[in-house]
Amino acid sequence: MCIFCKIINKEIPASILYEDEDVFALLDIAQVTDGHALVMPKEHVDNILDCPPVLLSKIISVTQMLSKDIVSKLGAKGVNVLTNANPAAGQSVMHFHMHIIPRYHEHDGLILKFKENPTPELKKIQDILKK
Ligand SMILES: [Zn+2]
Repeated sequence: MCIFCKIINKEIPASILYEDEDVFALLDIAQVTDGHALVMPKEHVDNILDCPPVLLSKIISVTQMLSKDIVSKLGAKGVNVLTNANPAAGQSVMHFHMHIIPRYHEHDGLILKFKENPTPELKKIQDILKK
């Protein structure tokens, strides 16, 4: 059983923020910024790529609700919401989870930088994706 399934089953203690029959949310033990939270399905799915759409919509709804709470109650100026799918994208626990990372200013704990491809092949990629 994966570590998040153990937390959901209450075999490992956690700072739980929200729970219903399908969705579970907690504070990440490694706080990038104060209030860094994880939202996940109770059912084990590896990542967003294999999450059933109806379940995904519930996760997104809880993610929005907690994001609003983080802004209004913790005084964050914004949030980054992201998920990593597979190790190539930095996924370390193979149980789907959304990160809510509160942002207090542009130079706090999260460094998110898009490095542009100097020779993008937009037409080729578009053709593949639109097939
Ligand atoms: Zn799991």
